[in-house]
Amino acid sequence: MKMVNFGARSWLCRALSTIPSNPLRVCVVGSGPAGFYTAEKMLKAHQQAQVDIIDRLPTPFGLVRSGVAPDHPETKIVVNQFSRVALNDRCSFFGNVTLGSSVSLADLRQLYDVVVLAYGAESDRVLGIPGEDLNGIYSAREFVWWYNGHPDCRFLNPDLKSTDTAVILGQGNVALDVARVLLRPTTELVTTDIASHALAALKESAIRKVYLVGRRGPVQAACTTKELREVLGIKDLHIHIQQDDLVKTPLDEEELKNNRIQRRVYEFLSKAATSGASHPCSGQRELHFVFFRKPNRFLESDERSGYVSGISLEKTVLKGVEPGKQMAVGTQQFEYLGCGVVLKSIGYKSIPVDGLPFDHQKGVVPNINGRVLSDTSKDPPVLEKGLYVCGWLKRGPTGIIATNLYCAEETVAAISDDIEQGVVPSSSSLPKPGREGLLQLLDNRNVRVLPFSAWEKIDSEERRLGNLTNKPREKLAAWEELMKVATE
Ligand SMILES: Cc1cc2nc3c(=O)[nH]c(=O)nc-3n(C[C@H](O)[C@H](O)[C@H](O)COP(=O)(O)OP(=O)(O)OC[C@H]3O[C@@H](n4cnc5c(N)ncnc54)[C@H](O)[C@@H]3O)c2cc1C
Repeated sequence: MKMVNFGARSWLCRALSTIPSNPLRVCVVGSGPAGFYTAEKMLKAHQQAQVDIIDRLPTPFGLVRSGVAPDHPETKIVVNQFSRVALNDRCSFFGNVTLGSSVSLADLRQLYDVVVLAYGAESDRVLGIPGEDLNGIYSAREFVWWYNGHPDCRFLNPDLKSTDTAVILGQGNVALDVARVLLRPTTELVTTDIASHALAALKESAIRKVYLVGRRGPVQAACTTKELREVLGIKDLHIHIQQDDLVKTPLDEEELKNNRIQRRVYEFLSKAATSGASHPCSGQRELHFVFFRKPNRFLESDERSGYVSGISLEKTVLKGVEPGKQMAVGTQQFEYLGCGVVLKSIGYKSIPVDGLPFDHQKGVVPNINGRVLSDTSKDPPVLEKGLYVCGWLKRGPTGIIATNLYCAEETVAAISDDIEQGVVPSSSSLPKPGREGLLQLLDNRNVRVLPFSAWEKIDSEERRLGNLTNKPREKLAAWEELMKVATE
């Protein structure tokens, strides 16, 4: 066997020496919550399982590192639990390995008895309206990756200096995170793990007004109370909510009766609409909740060719007879909202890879309890033996970190059932090469595999740098920096 090229001979020996005599070879793609919970449950349920987690980044933990807001450090504590999983003798983490380019799905299925896809949702839903490609319009995903130091958005450089107004399309928790980061005094962000390039840009930001635009009303706002309370509680912030928008229909009342979170959200919004001054003081930052409006088109600036200067919004009304299922319908009444930055927080979308059944409508992999389906039209549907899915790729981009724990339990239960039934490992095939085969293949393709110890180097360097400026860590956000520290 040719030696793998990162030179960590001892690490490789350890990795290979921990193989049980007749292991169940499991590969988990993606090291976010879904991937780590799956690995943890598999290791626990199957003593003969050897689990390899691959991730396209040198850094593990998915959106816990690159999604969760910098001012929510308590939410990130779960990485300690994930690190313990990665350090389990029967588990390995291989960073800088991308499904779809470093290795194909067909490769993985040949190498492993069980493949669990947990690679999340790394693209965006689009509105499909005119002007969507103008400069100054970003997806919330890109913006969040930028302030969280994801290497793919290190150089996004959103222009926060040329305008005092940002519009966020969407009113879910991600939208509220983005609003909070834009409006919170930077003195409150300096001691977080926010990326230094983002902190510098926010310090110089001219954004004073943020509009959060939703198609439906305050009864249907898709956020939770914690996030709402936080944004409403920002120091010296003027909150604006139209009183008229708070008027409830009998159907709204019904909806609130059935949902405690919606009820609390509505109460917070109603309270915020009446407390505080009716007009902002000069220089005060403003947060406007704009309900019952949907974007119709983006308008280009006359002065700055190619840049957005505003949005045409169409007023909506709610239609529908069932509580919880009211839809926003356009009224053909339009109004203009001027702005220089737009952040679309309308939903993440998963990306299919070659050979993977994919429901393009829903943006997920068709599955039953985590078992991937190749043909949903047949009864019973046809299953892809040994192929499973978990997390946002399985359910769509909703739910908190803990939701992925239940999701992983379901997927692992399906795998365990299939093992018990003799569906996997396939009795007809030879033992699979697993980890050894993967490393050999990646070496042949000159893929620079980064083990967990490489992440530990990045981690300690980030902590060291953070220590110098009183931050929990200073994230290394450029690919070159990450690779350099990881391979030193
Ligand atoms: C902005 C934002 C803020 C959030 N804040 C909170 C919060 O405060 N609290 C909370 O509980 N939940 C929060 N969530 C939700 C939580 O982050 C998700 O529920 C969870 O991360 C989804 O887990 P996942 O493993 O499916 O996907 P991800 O966390 O996205 O993990 C996917 C992993 O797959 C890797 N990957 C992608 N493509 C490939 C490929 N082709 N090959 C190899 N690897 C690949 C990625 O690098 C990533 O590591 C937030 C989500 C967002 C978007």
